[in-house]
Amino acid sequence: MDKILDDLITAVKKNTRNLSVGQIKNAYLFAKEAHNGQMRHSGEPYIIHPVAVAKILIELGMDTQTVIAGLLHDVLEDTPVSFETLEKEFTQEVAYLVNGVTKLSTMKYTSRTETQMENIRKMFLAMAHDIRVIIIKLADRLHNMRTIKYVKPSKQRAKAYETMELYAPIAHRLGMSNIKEELEAISIKVLDPYACSEIEEYLEINQKARQKLLNAIKNRISERLIGENIKHALEGRVKSIYGIYRKAYMADKRFEEIYDVYAIRIILDTEIECYNMLGIVHDMFRPLPNRFKDYISTPKPNMYQSLHTTVIDSNAIPFEIQIRTWEMHYTAEYGIAAHWKYKLGMGSNKRDGFDKRLAWIRQLLEVQKESDTNDALLLSIKSDFIPEEVYAFTPQGEVKALPNGSTAIDFAYSIHSEVGNHMVGAKVNGKLVSIDHVIKTGELIEVITNAKSNGPSRDWLKVVKSSEARSKIRSWFKNKHKEENIQEGKAEFLKELKKNLINLSSKEYEKFALEVAKVYKFNEANEFYAALGYGGLSATAIAPKLRDIYSKNYKAAEPEKPIIERRKTGEVQLKHGNSIIVEDLEGCLVKFARCCNPLPGDEIIGFVTRGYGISVHRRNCPSALVSQKATAQPERWINVTWNKTLNGEHFNTNIEVVAHSRLGLFATVAGKISNAKLIMHEIDAREIEPQKSSIRITLSVESLEQLNRVIREIESVSGVISVKRYLNAEEEE
Ligand code: MN
Repeated sequence: MDKILDDLITAVKKNTRNLSVGQIKNAYLFAKEAHNGQMRHSGEPYIIHPVAVAKILIELGMDTQTVIAGLLHDVLEDTPVSFETLEKEFTQEVAYLVNGVTKLSTMKYTSRTETQMENIRKMFLAMAHDIRVIIIKLADRLHNMRTIKYVKPSKQRAKAYETMELYAPIAHRLGMSNIKEELEAISIKVLDPYACSEIEEYLEINQKARQKLLNAIKNRISERLIGENIKHALEGRVKSIYGIYRKAYMADKRFEEIYDVYAIRIILDTEIECYNMLGIVHDMFRPLPNRFKDYISTPKPNMYQSLHTTVIDSNAIPFEIQIRTWEMHYTAEYGIAAHWKYKLGMGSNKRDGFDKRLAWIRQLLEVQKESDTNDALLLSIKSDFIPEEVYAFTPQGEVKALPNGSTAIDFAYSIHSEVGNHMVGAKVNGKLVSIDHVIKTGELIEVITNAKSNGPSRDWLKVVKSSEARSKIRSWFKNKHKEENIQEGKAEFLKELKKNLINLSSKEYEKFALEVAKVYKFNEANEFYAALGYGGLSATAIAPKLRDIYSKNYKAAEPEKPIIERRKTGEVQLKHGNSIIVEDLEGCLVKFARCCNPLPGDEIIGFVTRGYGISVHRRNCPSALVSQKATAQPERWINVTWNKTLNGEHFNTNIEVVAHSRLGLFATVAGKISNAKLIMHEIDAREIEPQKSSIRITLSVESLEQLNRVIREIESVSGVISVKRYLNAEEEE
């Protein structure tokens, strides 16, 4: 005799549904054999657990295949039985259901943030392609919670927490309020035993009064409805322990303030009767303002429908009244499971609409494709089971939700843009895959990064599905090129400054660059450089503006440079085109060789340089003489003459004064030059021998004649030994 089997068979037979006793018995024997020798924490043989799960499923009104899968739900995970064996011994349907439950069981849920939990719940639902897998899993958890006292205390809390965060919300989402409330009641007792005993105590103390109150109200309603000849059922109930807990400890209310601790349920045949009933109730009791809720016209997302109102009786005790039809009642108790239970339950024609809806859901689940219906209620269930998202784990157990079709690249970017930018590979469940691997729900993905990676490729943009990844890749490209563009643009800008002879101190430079940037409507110099680098602005096009701003705001502050400097930079060079007449050539550029600094009156000769026009030397300039002899191109030496009509032009020249050293010598020499109204540019005095000094002077004169005059003046200074023009050591070309 097998007492466990007998009890199971009794439960099967008691069920109004035509379950196959033979098939269930076979499954029982198979499971018992498979789990032979295994024990529960309670010390009982393991088989009592799958049988308990099967009984819960029978109670829920599930079909034979689901009940069998309940009996076998742990054999794949805990025994050597294989999927193929299940397929062979039972049906493919059973094998798939058991396999689905096993997949959910082997998954680890470690993360704790609220968004993470929501992702885990969604993934949990998405993992189970058949809704019955979830129902079996809920029944499994329910029995495990009912026997939690046998589990080690340290593990009890973790189980209770997981139940609160994962299983109860899923039961709620599927509208299975009976299971949800029981899971919550057991879990909260584990998690907060002190508060729970406080609630139980409160309920116990008030039990008699409550029962009296509820009975009195029920009687009043019943009398009235019988009088009006309305078929009805009445239930008096106390709010669930966790419901009270939530309001008392989480919303911080006193027990007396919780209106719906007591509730009366009125169950009727039709929806119209429900609304009529509401009128009757409000006629009998005084309603509290703002407490009426119509979940019939606007069902909750989990399909829950009812009218709720809170009223007070003559003793001023508030209580909630829920009004619903039988159909709504079954949905409220069993949620999605009502689909199976309800089929054989009521004989009313209301069933058709409900069945149609549920049949539609089922079809939806089976076909797994979009529907054009706009029914929000169904859409919400549909989106749970045919999600637009996939869920994958990080190695740390975090769950990432991504759009369907997302790749490992999307996953990498969902972790952090730096992870994506340095991604070089990916592993799925420990195996290397290509980075464009399309993610399937439940996969564990490890992103392989390398700090030296070259960053994303443009092709990634064609592969990624999430807008997050796309925008992060785009911004990488933008930023990368921006940095390059800034560097290039700045170099361009500096080149252009040089070209235009704009010399700025580093302090002036910052100001100048910003000023130019603003002319082109950029708020920062870097933005302006980026545009130059990118080619949005051309360096040559901005040159006139540069010169403009420079000469207006910066150049004025610069001290006037000596003529020799200006000549060097070319500012005065064209003037010499007028002072020199070049044989057979007109309007060509002329410069004076720095070696000999010719003056009007000197015998001169021209040399055609490679790019600077004519270089003019004195005929007796030693370097010119050497060049003339050495050159292979004598034709490059040409005759030049001074223009006779020079008007006030000045030419630089160098003289050296050698004199006996004495106090005031330097001042006297300088005074002679100054008296001649000539400008000295450089004076360099030094002792060349004991008591003998050399003073080298660069000055500008109009002509050789003027120079000779001032030389004579200096020669007359006492102590001066000689005054001569001297040649610069270096030649230039
Ligand atoms: Mn189990």
